[in-house]
Amino acid sequence: MKKELVGLSLDELKKELESIGQKAFRAKQLWQWIYNKGETDFDKMSSLSKDFRSELKEKYTVTHPEIILEQISTDGTRKWLMRFKDGAEIESVFIPEEDCGAVCVSTQVGCAQGCKFCNTGTQKLMRNLTAAEIVGQVMAARDALHEWPTKTDENRLLSNVVFMGMGEPLYNFDNVKTAIGILNDGDGMAISKRKITVSTAGRADKIPELADLGVKLAISLHAPNNELRNKLMPINRKFSLEELMAACKEYQKRCERRHFITMAYVLLKDVNDSLECAKELTELVKGLEVKFNLIPFHPWEGCPFEPSSNNQIHRFAKFLEDKWFAAPIRRTRGEDIMAACGQLKTEHNKKC
Ligand code: SF4
Repeated sequence: MKKELVGLSLDELKKELESIGQKAFRAKQLWQWIYNKGETDFDKMSSLSKDFRSELKEKYTVTHPEIILEQISTDGTRKWLMRFKDGAEIESVFIPEEDCGAVCVSTQVGCAQGCKFCNTGTQKLMRNLTAAEIVGQVMAARDALHEWPTKTDENRLLSNVVFMGMGEPLYNFDNVKTAIGILNDGDGMAISKRKITVSTAGRADKIPELADLGVKLAISLHAPNNELRNKLMPINRKFSLEELMAACKEYQKRCERRHFITMAYVLLKDVNDSLECAKELTELVKGLEVKFNLIPFHPWEGCPFEPSSNNQIHRFAKFLEDKWFAAPIRRTRGEDIMAACGQLKTEHNKKC
């Protein structure tokens, strides 16, 4: 079977080429074809010698995941169901802003965390994604947006990458780390670390390491105390809020640059949307530099929650803002295409 080259770090690529008797410097040329130009066909890698190209063709592949379903919202949000070589399927979403945009990538097929408000939590964990499959989602997004070769930071649509799709990234940490290294390389996809965010449901023991990688941190918080969080997010029974906040402090201490932590908070009617909860939140995050991201809940079939009213969401936001926290209410995006994590895959599975 041919070996996949996407997902190898530059050092690994050099070693791979050396193992077939090629000079290490060729790795850089090949790297640029793969990650700067987005080329998957060795025959088109015109700056490589013919013999080298033939050898590559014989032994390797360069594959982007197959987009098997694409939905484009009226607001420009694009949602893709992608399929990998073994048939596993995951979702990625592109959310455009005025002159930039973020692709939200998955890190696992399904998820073991079982957060009660999350559609993906109903799909059992099948496996971790490889670094190739994680990077491949960004490559496939660039294919769809016609953003090859790598554009300059100022004029690209796909400017940010958020590890916030299906799965818990910190339970697939090694592959996430390798993927970040590849995405960030200046000769390839050149996505600055400041534009990469890793979101976790709360694997506290790994959080400080994100500071060493230089990427931004987002926490799926969703509850202000352990009692409620234990009910909504089973991971809290393993890593309590005290451990989580201590890990966040350690992250900020280790960060070279000043990074505000985003605290994502989905508002569930009569569950976590009271002003008492908002007050508890402000106390919980004392000593940290955070901004809140308030998310209106989108019900899915079979979910046990209802969305908070607009009035209550605004009251909640105002309470936080009055205490000097940034607390924007996330604009609803891609509502017409089921853009909440996991919904497209669930719907697709139902039809198949
Ligand atoms: S919110 Fe994240 S960690 Fe929780 S079930 Fe959904 S995908 Fe998994």
